[in-house]
This record gives sequence, structure tokens and C-alpha cells, in this order.
Amino acid sequence: MNKLRKKVITISAVSAIALGTITAGSNLPILDAKGNQNNNRKVDNVIFMVPDGFSASYATNYRWYKGEETALDSILVGMHRTYSANSEITDSAAAGTAFATGVKTNNGMISTSPDGKELKTILEAMEEKGKSSGLVATSTITHATPAVFASHVASRSDESAIAPQLIDNDVDVIMGGGKKYFPDSLINEAKKDGYQYISSKGDLKRAERSDKLIGLFAESGMAPELDRETTNEPSLQEMTETALKVLNKDKDGFFLMVEGSQIDWAGHDHDAAWAMKDSEAFEKALESVLEFAKKDKNTLVVVAGDHDTGGMSVGGNGPGDVDLEVIRNVTATGDYMVTQLNSTRSNVKEVVKKYTTLELTDEEVQLIKSSEQPAITINEVVSARANIGWTSLNHTGVDVPLYAYGPGADLFIGLHENTDLPVLMAEALKIKFTPGK
Ligand SMILES: [Zn+2]
Repeated sequence: MNKLRKKVITISAVSAIALGTITAGSNLPILDAKGNQNNNRKVDNVIFMVPDGFSASYATNYRWYKGEETALDSILVGMHRTYSANSEITDSAAAGTAFATGVKTNNGMISTSPDGKELKTILEAMEEKGKSSGLVATSTITHATPAVFASHVASRSDESAIAPQLIDNDVDVIMGGGKKYFPDSLINEAKKDGYQYISSKGDLKRAERSDKLIGLFAESGMAPELDRETTNEPSLQEMTETALKVLNKDKDGFFLMVEGSQIDWAGHDHDAAWAMKDSEAFEKALESVLEFAKKDKNTLVVVAGDHDTGGMSVGGNGPGDVDLEVIRNVTATGDYMVTQLNSTRSNVKEVVKKYTTLELTDEEVQLIKSSEQPAITINEVVSARANIGWTSLNHTGVDVPLYAYGPGADLFIGLHENTDLPVLMAEALKIKFTPGK
């Protein structure tokens, strides 16, 4: 048993004791939300955070990776069912549409019903009440999860059609990747509508003064957190803090959606280190959001992954313990390591050692050298060393944890449909919202 593991077990034991005294008052935020007058307070703002692809196994592995309780642990309230209208296994478009509109649609569709009807979103309903709105993501900002809140298209791949809709829909803060979907003509039109446009981390500070903001920090998706230091891109936490400063100027309140987009991409690649590092970046953004909500007192925070990705497991490659120390030692994504390989991949041992500290066996070297998808093979070798399992290169259909904090948080306790989320947000806000209307 390593040192860190002992530390976590000690912390867990302390938490178990704390749970026994729940009613006597604990500093766990959800209890605060449930047990006192806070819960009857008016909700002005809703901050909805989506760690894309994040299921219970990610939550558990991330706790071992971190070595202590996470910010998510203290606000867990339930689970939700992720299936879409046409599959037990949803994609992010259908899952996001459920979150945004309260209606289950077919995979691939963006806030449009299976028969092609445009569905009103919770963001749009809040805008109608005079509130501001914001979308922040580390993917292109026109990617499925952010897109569903303020656009309506039949196919998620139609990102060029989504971009102008975000502006026409008057989303006040738009931040993420995807400059390639916002041609100069569109940016100029947005500027005429009062938007400030920024494109690098250094611009964030002065952007706090604007009322409407577009920040596009990469042509396509932003960099994985593991590889971000070589870029001018802000972190998810930095974007989130800027978004809160801009949106909080509206006395009527706001809706903000923040997505940790790449936990899902890491899962598709079986890249445990990328998944854990982007979960850490997401947790930091959540910490800023909880700090804001604690001070504000009229902010409901809801956090939910949209589905599992990769069928990650805690253990799963045969007998043995799970060792997240292996993952903590990784300093680059599998994708990045592959860019460092020579044409015959004869330097694979050196590259993998440099970015993971692992000594590959001859068998592992052969496996990577002959692989058609060397990044995934490197990632699977690393995951096997940590004893983290993967069962799919796609999404899986398991129920996913649901988290909430602030006034109205207790509405989210229990096992829900993903379509319940916007309805419960509207209930907390005391605004009328009828899915499909
Ligand atoms: Zn995915």
C-alpha cells in the first residue's frame, strides 16, 4: 500500500464519521443547500457545468489521482439516465438536447425533435426573462454540447450553421475554440452588435469590462490541459472566471454553461492521463464557480456528465491494485507522444519513457510499433500499467452522477432522466418552461 493510498483511506474514514453527524451540521455544501433557509432563497442565476464523458468511474479514478476528496464529492445529489430517443447509448448532441430542452431526440440532432421541430432551450427561456447567457467550452464552441443551448440544426456536424445562430440568439459570452467557424465577416457583424472579440489568454483581463464577449482561442478544439502550456490559450478556469465577471453585471441574472469538453475525447482515445488532467482542469473551474455561488447565495449550480465515454473502469486488466501514480507521472497525451516518434517508430522506448517514466517491455514496443492507432496503443499500455480498464472506443449507456449546489439543489436528489434537468432548473428559477413547447 503506498503512502498516498493510506492518506486517502484516512480521509475517507474521517468523511464516514462526518456523515454520521450530518444533521448536526457539516460543512459539506449540499447539506448547506438542503438543510437551511438557503434552499428557499430566490434563484437568479443558473450555472450548468458538463464534464463531457464523465461517469462514476472517472469520478473514482480522479479521486485516487488527486489523492483526496474532490470538489464534486461534496455536492453529489443523484444520478441520471442518459439514453437518447433512438439508442440506449447517447451521443453528446442528443444528451445535450435533453439537458437544454427537456426532450429526448435522436443521436446527432441539435435541439431539434426527431421529426424536425425546433425545441426551445432553457437558455432561450431565461433570455426571454431578461437574463444574460454564456457558453464556455474547450472544444469548438459550435460543438454539440455548447451548441444545443442556443442553436437548432438537424446535424451536429453543421458547425458553420451553428456559429451565426449563437450570435443571432444573443448569447452574451461565447468562449472556447472554433475560430474556423467564425469568418471575419461574422466577427465584424458581431462587433457591430456590441461584442468585444478576443483571441488569446492575455486579452482576458481587459475583456472583463465588456458586456458581450466572443473569445476564440484556437482554430479548432483547444489544447488538452496536458499540452496547453506551449500555447496562448487560457484554462477552463480562467475562461469561467472571466465569463462570471461579464455576466454578473446583469442585475436580472444569467445562465452560464461551462463544458470540460475533452474528458470525452480522452475517453475515446483511452488516454487516462488526458482524462484525469482535464478532470482536474474542470474541478478548478468548478471551485471558482462554487466560490462565486457561495458569495452570491442566489446561484444554483448543477453539474452532470452527459454520458460515459470508453467504459472506463477502476481495475480491469486482470488481478492487481489500481495505481494512479502511473497516470500522475504522464506529462503528455498519447497523441502528442506519437508526433515525437520517428518514421519507423524505432525511438518509441525513449519517447514513452520521456513522457511517462515507464520502461516499455519488448512486447509493448512491438505492440506500439505495429499498431494502426499508435496513440491509442500507447495509452492502453499506460492504462494497463495503472490497471485502469476500458471496454469501448465509443460511449456507453451507464447512468451518470448528478451534482448540485445552492438554492434549489435538493430538487435534483435521486435518479432522474437527463430531460428532467432543465425542468428542475426552471422550477428553481420559478419560470415557466414546458419541454417541446
Ligand atoms: Zn464522445
